[in-house]
Amino acid sequence: SQRLQQKTAVVTGAGSGIGSAIARLFAREGARVALLDLTTEATGPLARQLQQQTGQHGIACVADVTDRKQVQQAINQVEDTFGQIDILVNCAGINVFRDALALAEEEWQRCMNVNLQGPYNLIRAVIPGMLRRRYGNIVNVASVHGHKIIPGAFPYPVAKHGLIGLTRSLGVEYAGQGIRINSISPGLILTPSAEAWLASCPDPQAERQKQQDLLPCKRIGEPEEVAYTALFLASDEARFINATDILIDGGRSQV
Ligand code: NAD
Repeated sequence: SQRLQQKTAVVTGAGSGIGSAIARLFAREGARVALLDLTTEATGPLARQLQQQTGQHGIACVADVTDRKQVQQAINQVEDTFGQIDILVNCAGINVFRDALALAEEEWQRCMNVNLQGPYNLIRAVIPGMLRRRYGNIVNVASVHGHKIIPGAFPYPVAKHGLIGLTRSLGVEYAGQGIRINSISPGLILTPSAEAWLASCPDPQAERQKQQDLLPCKRIGEPEEVAYTALFLASDEARFINATDILIDGGRSQV
């Protein structure tokens, strides 16, 4: 049976990588999905494809998650279309890896705004409706960088530690009101942003090999492998799991 039947979900960053994989899997599991991203270039065709393949109503909506007004407008649009929002997945994110002293102030701010303020903006926008219905389920996409400090990745880990803190803090605040908030922490996953990062390394082939060797399972993860954990947390099977994080890193954080 489908695990998200009768549910509606908003997935941010749904135009690429892990967000797309989550949107696809949620639709397959019976959810109506709103695909939110900076443009509809990728989410427009994906929403139509999901509707054809699964029969589930999918819509593409545009917002920069850092802009509270745009976020509120997008959430209003989704609530008008679907009537309610049961699930929010905060997946939009960017990696910023810099030398601490060379980092420009705007780069620091962009990193914090997209990765931390963004999820908070979305949570603020969906929580009132969830409180009214005493049902809501939020999954934030953090990172292995929110657990293990890997040299050379500053300031991205600062934002991802913050996101895990936001998850724990708000997970507890709303626990008595039917809302669950958890995060998932992927290790290296093959997505367009990971490919772009690898391509930016001095020797991409060697870096890829190095990353694989660092993983106890000796292979890089795939977006769908992250999506299954988001599905579990977003489903009622996980109804006693709240304010915590699940690592999906092939054991990377343990070595
Ligand atoms: P991606 O770049 O392939 O996709 C991210 C999507 O988010 C893009 O479609 C982009 O347009 C959107 N986005 C970026 N900034 C936005 C903004 N301000 N407003 C709205 N949308 C915005 O990235 P991905 O690799 O799929 O990563 C998804 C999430 O997973 C991110 O939060 C990332 O930090 C996290 N993550 C990725 C990996 C990995 O190895 N790929 C590992 C750990 C965590």
